[in-house]
Amino acid sequence: MTASQPSPSPAAVQARPGSPATAYIDLAAVTANVRVLREHAPGAQLLAVVKADAYGHGLVPVARAAAAGGASWLGTALLDEAIALRDSGIHARIFTWLNVPGADFAGAIRRDIDLSASAPWQLNEIAAAAQALGCTARLHLKVDTGLGRNGAFGPGFTEILTSARKLERRGIVRIVGVWSHFAYADQPDHPTVRHQQEVFEAAVREAEAAGCDLEVRHLANSAATLTNPSAHYDLVRPGLAIYGLSPVPELGDSTAYGLVPAMTLTARFALVKGLPAGQGVSYAHQHVTTADTRVGLIPVGYADGIPRHASSRGPVAVGGRRYLVAGRVCMDQILVDLGADSPAQAGDQVVLFGPGAEGEPTAQDWAIAADTISYEIVTRLGPRVERVYVGGSEEPS
Ligand SMILES: *Cc1c(COP(=O)(O)O)cnc(C)c1O
Repeated sequence: MTASQPSPSPAAVQARPGSPATAYIDLAAVTANVRVLREHAPGAQLLAVVKADAYGHGLVPVARAAAAGGASWLGTALLDEAIALRDSGIHARIFTWLNVPGADFAGAIRRDIDLSASAPWQLNEIAAAAQALGCTARLHLKVDTGLGRNGAFGPGFTEILTSARKLERRGIVRIVGVWSHFAYADQPDHPTVRHQQEVFEAAVREAEAAGCDLEVRHLANSAATLTNPSAHYDLVRPGLAIYGLSPVPELGDSTAYGLVPAMTLTARFALVKGLPAGQGVSYAHQHVTTADTRVGLIPVGYADGIPRHASSRGPVAVGGRRYLVAGRVCMDQILVDLGADSPAQAGDQVVLFGPGAEGEPTAQDWAIAADTISYEIVTRLGPRVERVYVGGSEEPS
């Protein structure tokens, strides 16, 4: 951050010289988005979902920024990311839920990480690890309330509840939570939403009747946090919304929910050159120039997460003007047809997406162009894209 620029914009914090593509991650936006989400769910604690390298934004910097906004819990799908978070010195509660037999449950328990159980094998391995360590493992029982994915379904829930209670009476585990996940959270009026809540509440009652003293009951992802207060319970688990993207773009964009997209993806032209009318551009000549023109070569491609489905459709901004990708998205590069009068030259910055406040495309625009969801646009960004953090507090939390 330069001293002359107190409020950093992407231009104020420089990427590494010669960096072909840079994602600027606005950590102040993450912190602010978490605050906004807490206002949406004032009666609940907030668990910031930072799985998948914080949806491509960077695990540890985002986790610290989320904690600064009041996230008292952090969550990752996979155990290794939970361990990496704890080993980075983060003190918040950490919850992780997706593993296979042989996972390092001992490593998790030793690091005071909360674990989920969806199946008997998981409970058995967690219990064995806790016993070997002489510790009590903190456990959240996952009930499949109708997503048909992870979680114990129907009598399977009663089964793991009964086994977990036996282990709890022996001090091997402590059942702190019952939790689940929605199938249609992005359609709050869908009948499955109410039904899943009823199944969830029945599972909670069953656990309490079996003697559980639950600390957190949790069901809400971003969409339910924003649109369904009756699903907030004790803890909400937003992911996408902490990155400032709308989980329900049909109902409202980021601005409508007071969220600010945290990622701005930029690249720099590697080449700008003239081409004559009628010249095919990129593989299979899917784009053909209609007049003498200048084309710009942008050094990002599907290896970096630019969806090939966005060929001829993905939007970019150059010097404040919007263009579409010209022709095929290649592994390492895309092109834009800039027109004969473009002053663009090699080294100039191209914005693929950002908050949209200055007319640049958004991750949601790319999602539409690629017939997908904004989750996939940000999460797929590859390691060749440099991440530069702006707007963070200087103090590590
Ligand atoms: C990914 C995930 C979330 C967060 O979902 P968003 O839609 O990004 O808010 C919450 N809970 C579970 C179990 C998840 O897998």
